[in-house]
Formats: sequence, structure tokens, C-alpha cells
Amino acid sequence: MSKPSILLIYTGGTIGMVKDFETGALKVFNFKKLLDRIPELKQLDCNIETVSFDKPIDSSNMNTAKWAQLATLIEENYDNFDGFVILHGSDTMSYSASALSFMLENVSKPVVFTGSQLPIGDLRTDAKENLITAIQIASLQTKNHPVIREVCLYFESKLYRGNRTTKISAEHFKAFTSPNYPALAESGVHLKVTKELLWPHEPGKELQVRKNFEDNVVIIKMFPGINERVLSSILNTPGLKGVVLETYGSGNAPTDIYFISILQKAIQNGVQIVNVTQCSGGSVNMGHYETSTMLKEIGVISGADITTEAAITKMMYLLGQDIPAGQFKTLFESSLRGELS
Ligand code: ASP
Repeated sequence: MSKPSILLIYTGGTIGMVKDFETGALKVFNFKKLLDRIPELKQLDCNIETVSFDKPIDSSNMNTAKWAQLATLIEENYDNFDGFVILHGSDTMSYSASALSFMLENVSKPVVFTGSQLPIGDLRTDAKENLITAIQIASLQTKNHPVIREVCLYFESKLYRGNRTTKISAEHFKAFTSPNYPALAESGVHLKVTKELLWPHEPGKELQVRKNFEDNVVIIKMFPGINERVLSSILNTPGLKGVVLETYGSGNAPTDIYFISILQKAIQNGVQIVNVTQCSGGSVNMGHYETSTMLKEIGVISGADITTEAAITKMMYLLGQDIPAGQFKTLFESSLRGELS
């Protein structure tokens, strides 16, 4: 059996930085020398090739054009590799993992995002474990086929479905969680994959790469005291196509007439409005309380237990496809890549 081939894609982020011993400052290192810097990689039972963004970025500078660049890299190398590991800054990693999950329709190979809280050159770094295990996970095969066939995120011993994750800490090595879906795999003494949780593979379906994302969208987080003028000015933004509304608890919001009527007018003007909860876990259930009944009646879409990161990227993806406006709600409320229950 031949060794799996893995393409390691470096986009930037803390993981790829080393300390300049003279100045003490963190700087991006020559990614081509990665294999020299982490000799352990040579012991892995796979062939590794590397490719880097021309200008590696802090992931705060991620945008739709760079997502398309990442998707193109995977598309162009798809047939030549058995798996992909993407090194990415942790700050927006959950957005990128969600975006790529929508872009790569019918992906049947592992695409594993990882990064670190400390640079690879730091003595206490978490980068080595994250990188080595992410590559091992991407190399897992049964009967010459990859075990993982979806976009995932590996960080601090857990492999998650990428579009279920959110960053929860700027301090701890455990920087991510998946509030509404269990980890797909866990790395301890053994690497344990829970097969029943993996996205099912549909044989015969070819990879379709969807790069067109609509960016005339916004996330509005509700807070007590949000005022009519501000809300109405956001919802009347010329060209606005979609809103992710982060509401309270199980999808609740004020019952004030002004509030409902601003949303209603926007919906009538063709703006898609999706309700997600600002709680870190659980689901929207419109109609459960009086404070969400009207939202349901005026046609607000339920995001169920989707994360805000997956909701905004799913909205950008769906609005970027050529689908009739009437189908948006049905598609948004269905699980396309395992992003909602
Ligand atoms: N600011 C960095 C980034 O997201 C943090 C990290 O890499 O973890 O690119």
C-alpha cells in the first residue's frame, strides 16, 4: 500500500512564526523550511508537500477572495493528494472552516484546519502536537480510502466538524469548542475516531467548488436598548441581502411594534433574515415563547443550533448561488454539510 500524500497549506497565523533571537519579535519564517524545523514530520507515515500563501496573513485579514484562493488550491491539487491540512490563524479559523465546508460540495477527502496559540518556535508551543496530529488524521485510511471526508478543525486533542466550531479562548490551548455537536475524534494515547459522527460519504458524487460568496450581509447582535434609528439604518442599507440576527435564548427578541415592523419591511424588500441564538449552546425554537412568535410569523428563518460563524458563511454561500429566493429558507433550514441538527 502506498503512503498517503498530504498537502500542507500555510495561510499564516501564529503557528508559522518564530522568535527572532536578536529582537525578540515574532516573525513569519520561511515556510519551505518547515520540515527542517520539525524533524518529527519526517517520521510520519505519509508524503508531505507544502504550499504557502505568497503573503501569509494574520487571520484577521481573511476575506472572501482569500477563501476562494484556498478553495482553488484544493481544487487544483485535489486529484494528486489524499488529504489537506490548512495552517490558519485561530482568530477566524471557525469562519474559514465553515466557509470552506460550503465551498467544497461533495468533498470526499479530509480537509483539516489547524493552528496554535503559541508559535512553532516557542519552547512551550502547542503547534507541534496540533500539526503532527492534524497530519496523522488527514492520513487515516481504510481500504485505501480516507476515513475523514469533510472539512474539520483539529485543536488541542480534539477533531471537530469545522462548521460546528467557535473560538472560545484567547489564552488557553483549548481554544475551540463545538457547542452542539460532539468531537469527531480525540487524540490521547490512541487516536479515537467516532465513525458514527462523521459526515457520510456519497459515492459517485464529484467535488463541486463554489467560490461565489455574497458579502452584502451583516450580523446584528441584540442587546437590551437597541434603538429604532440604528436598527432601521442597518436594515435599510442599500444592497443589503441578508442579516444574521443573534437573539436571546431560544430565539427571543423584543415584541415592540417598531422592531417587528423594521424586520418585516426588510423581509418584504427581499432581505433574508436568519435567527441564531447568542447563547454558546442550544437551539433557536421560534414560537416557544411569545417573544419569538411574531418573528416566525413575519418569515424570519430559523438557524436552529447553527453557530454564528456557520450561519453568516452559509448565508454568504447561498446568496452567492443562483437559487430562487423562495428556496433560500428551505435550504437554510436544512443541513447541507452537517452544520445544523
Ligand atoms: N492573530 C492570530 C491569527 O488569527 C492568532 C492565531 O494565529 O492564533 O492569525
